[in-house]
Amino acid sequence: MKVLSVLYSGGQTAINEPRLLGTIENKLGLTEWLQARGHELVVTDDKEGADSDFQKEIVDADVLITTPFHPAYVTREIISKAKNLKLCITAGVGSDHIDLNAAIERHITVAEVTGSNVVSVAEHVVMSILLLVRNFVPAHEMIERGDWQVSDIARNAYDLENKVVGTIGAGRIGYRVLQRLVPFNCKELLYYDYNELPADAAKAVGACRVASLECDVVTINCPLYESTRNLINRDTLKHFKKGAWLVNTARGAICDRNAVKEALESGQLNGYSGDVWDVQPAPRDHPLRTAKNPLGGGNGMVPHYSGTTLDAQKRYAEGAKDILERFLDGKAQEPQNVIVDGGAYITKTYGQR
Ligand code: NAD
Repeated sequence: MKVLSVLYSGGQTAINEPRLLGTIENKLGLTEWLQARGHELVVTDDKEGADSDFQKEIVDADVLITTPFHPAYVTREIISKAKNLKLCITAGVGSDHIDLNAAIERHITVAEVTGSNVVSVAEHVVMSILLLVRNFVPAHEMIERGDWQVSDIARNAYDLENKVVGTIGAGRIGYRVLQRLVPFNCKELLYYDYNELPADAAKAVGACRVASLECDVVTINCPLYESTRNLINRDTLKHFKKGAWLVNTARGAICDRNAVKEALESGQLNGYSGDVWDVQPAPRDHPLRTAKNPLGGGNGMVPHYSGTTLDAQKRYAEGAKDILERFLDGKAQEPQNVIVDGGAYITKTYGQR
């Protein structure tokens, strides 16, 4: 079998730190194991354009392993070229970089390491909420500059206590965010999701299910697919509470980048934070690298790393190996890992179908 993996280049850092498993240097720890089993492993970070290693090597690959952090975009056109492709493994959570409908038509299995980094992301969401609400980034920048003007920071710093926080999506990450917010004594914890939480789970965090979100803080924790692409746009942003904070660690393309920038600049949003970008790596001139609110703060954007802590990398590398091993041994996959299989959606989280 030929296994192709598209990972990011970690350079000397990844050579010095072998726990950076999601890099082309450390290859998810698969090299010796796959070679001992007589299979071929091709690893590259070169993923854009017809002349890229990815597009050349996919033509006869049996298995493709990708990550959401340096996504190889597996379009319908690429699937049509990949004549031998039977399995796409996402080392991580979120397989929107694969055209799932095209995979279904070709009966390609798409599996991901469900749950592998959900705590990592939930922690990042709570951190992002706090750094926006408390106006942390401009405060730190002021200190680095050598300045000290407390009023310039305090004029836009608040407590999280007594605020209304809502999550779009209350699955593994969304629910863990709600759990972690309980001790902050928020006024209300709300969730918007077509899948209802079990009653005891909702009660345990005091969360109410709502049909629309009118919140101080909105956190996005649903997958990217047809009906969530551009869900946050000029029109929906008008219905946000004036001065709300928005955290997106789900997927960049759920938010219209220019609409978010305009909302920040007008003060309709007081802050935007997260780690996901519509196309990654984000271009240097991406508007959300530098967009600010009228008081010069409100931007907590970082590169896509919330779900790729060293703890998470260990879990998703082991999980990707398990999926691959099951496939090579002809064993059934763990049901929760399967996104599409046998010509159909198996997961219930990519929309009501
Ligand atoms: P999950 O499947 O456990 O939960 C997703 C929830 O979203 C489900 O309850 C589903 O019903 C809900 N949902 C789907 N469409 C919706 C819609 N239109 N409106 C409201 N809710 C909707 O998934 P998860 O493990 O919680 O992960 C969620 C997403 O987070 C992933 O799909 C991925 O895009 C993203 N993610 C990001 C990182 C990162 O590093 N930033 C890491 C892991 C996952």
